[in-house]
Amino acid sequence: MNVLIVHAHPEPQSFTSALRDLAAETLQGQGHQVLVSDLYAMKFNPVASAEDFSERANPDYLVYALEQREGVKAGRIAADIQTELDKLLWADLVIFNFPLYWFSVPAMLKGWIDRVLVSGVCYGGKRFYDQGGLAGKKALVTLTLGGRDHMFGEGAIHGPLEDMLRPLLRGTLAYVGMEVLPPFVAWHVPYISYEARQDFLRSYQARLQGLEQDVALEFPRLEQFDERLYPLQRPAQ
Ligand SMILES: Cc1cc2nc3c(=O)[nH]c(=O)nc-3n(C[C@H](O)[C@H](O)[C@H](O)COP(=O)(O)OP(=O)(O)OC[C@H]3O[C@@H](n4cnc5c(N)ncnc54)[C@H](O)[C@@H]3O)c2cc1C
Repeated sequence: MNVLIVHAHPEPQSFTSALRDLAAETLQGQGHQVLVSDLYAMKFNPVASAEDFSERANPDYLVYALEQREGVKAGRIAADIQTELDKLLWADLVIFNFPLYWFSVPAMLKGWIDRVLVSGVCYGGKRFYDQGGLAGKKALVTLTLGGRDHMFGEGAIHGPLEDMLRPLLRGTLAYVGMEVLPPFVAWHVPYISYEARQDFLRSYQARLQGLEQDVALEFPRLEQFDERLYPLQRPAQ
């Protein structure tokens, strides 16, 4: 399979970068093709703006998604976006590898999402969730964070990690049609021992080697909704 690792960490020696390297080595060792988009190393521009289009369908008023839709058809989107989009369309599995920043993704990765998940290709009209433009591809979110695992979950001080990842897992990856695998999380990374970090690397490697057995998370399917996207069946009270 073709694998794209989208990596967002400013320090090449970071533990998050070690997870990236391990994923690349492990998957290549299994005979998969791996590409890495190292966003900081590439100095990726994370700002969606009018400069992303060499010509505009509407030069007077920027509607970014509409310009994406027209621009991608006409070959008018910025070269760095087109390059990333080509990698994305090539991939069967996309791994998003990053440290949690403010209950979310680093701005660098958010910018990659804003610019590369191009309207008209990845989603648009009623092409979302299981009908999204990236249906058939898998997504794995691999993240590091500072908090301890007992601080996350129902009733815990920060609440469930799934809640803070919702904009990414549901609002982005499931929305564009990807099959979203359960995230891999390395907790409390800066504060644990070297050995404990090595344990995370070992469990990540085992997880990657058994990826075929992973059961994807569940998200809405358009067949469960009517033409106006009202649910066909109300959930049981
Ligand atoms: C802006 C910002 C917002 C944040 N928001 C949150 C938040 O909302 N919630 C939260 O919980 N945390 C948050 N954090 C903390 C952040 O998520 C963690 O600091 C980060 O995930 C730790 O991972 P790292 O790769 O940066 O670790 P690093 O600090 O790079 O590495 C930790 C240690 O691992 C060592 N290491 C490197 N490679 C290896 C290896 N192969 N084997 C063993 N050890 C190795 C490094 O030398 C270092 O000593 C935030 C941090 C920032 C900067």
